[in-house]
Amino acid sequence: MLRVGVNGYGTIGKRVADAVRAQPDMEVVGVAKTRPNFEAEQAVEKGFPLYAAIEDRVEQFDEADIELAGMVEELVAQSDVVVDACPSGIGEQNSELYAEYDTPALYQGGESADFVDTSFNARSNFSDANGADHVRVVSCNTTGLSRLVAPLREEYGIEKVRTTLVRRGGDPAQTGRGPINDITPNPVTLPSHHGPDVNTIFPDLDIDTLGLKVPATLMHMHSVNVTLESEPDADVVRDLLEGESRLFVIPEHFDIDGAGKLKEYAQDVGRPRGDIWENCIWGESVTMEGDDLYLFQAIHQESDVVPENVDAIRAVTNSADADESVRKTNEALGMGI
Ligand code: NAD
Repeated sequence: MLRVGVNGYGTIGKRVADAVRAQPDMEVVGVAKTRPNFEAEQAVEKGFPLYAAIEDRVEQFDEADIELAGMVEELVAQSDVVVDACPSGIGEQNSELYAEYDTPALYQGGESADFVDTSFNARSNFSDANGADHVRVVSCNTTGLSRLVAPLREEYGIEKVRTTLVRRGGDPAQTGRGPINDITPNPVTLPSHHGPDVNTIFPDLDIDTLGLKVPATLMHMHSVNVTLESEPDADVVRDLLEGESRLFVIPEHFDIDGAGKLKEYAQDVGRPRGDIWENCIWGESVTMEGDDLYLFQAIHQESDVVPENVDAIRAVTNSADADESVRKTNEALGMGI
């Protein structure tokens, strides 16, 4: 069994912990938190040993009557791999701690790509992370774009990708984020950081991205144009996308007209927290105009990186190849809707 520690038990960390626990070849040895909030209380409730990330805060956990198993250093020492899901920038600071204990670590998309050995997307560059010490699982949007680019590139070749990302203003629990009544080019300058981030996975891909922020919390929406190196029929492209295990091509008869119904569907099928780990591509939006492919896809920002973290654990420990790992992860989570 691979022993996995999760440092930073928030939106991403708590989902990764549950997904790791569901794997037949992994166990969660503990999770670390800075504050005794509702997530800390739930971690203990679920039976995850809880470690304090900051020594000075131990008293706060005691006062809240939340039982601690120790300090984060002890968690790192007993982990085969640590998944760091701390807020952007903290992961890089924590990297020294992981190096000190010689424990390979995964970081999230908010971290810089500069201090890690490789950025990671299971479908695109799994083996680059084999045996690596510091691996960054790319952001929700970059994960969504990489999953789409990989099969198109292999099958048809790509001349250029142009994508406009309509970004949710904040996650449902992020009360301080916005806008609440505006539509903002974000960033107003081109390219948005997403294109260069996709280049950490596909260094030679020609990609331009533009970003907007809107008053929504449910999902991101991508308006995608890919100029291919050939001119396949749209239904053939659609078949290709339907064959990808982490792309959900929404059938027309589902009558899903937006992120709201997608989330409702995820809850109806019993997804934990209403999570949607797959890219959600509107089937009827898949259109070819000459060699230009167009489509809309929605990305559930809180969860699409979760299966990727699980695969990255197997990649750094050399415990499975890409196909085997993705199959195992998908099966354990019940992916494919
Ligand atoms: P979050 O704020 O929901 O969770 C972060 C958790 O880390 C919180 O529980 C916080 O208390 C804890 N924490 C803070 N400092 C810590 C420390 N020093 N040690 C241990 N724990 C600490 O953040 P999030 O949304 O889960 O984001 C985490 C990372 O994942 C970021 O890099 C972010 O860019 C990336 N990411 C976020 C999303 C998203 O939509 N939320 C999507 C993909 C990637």
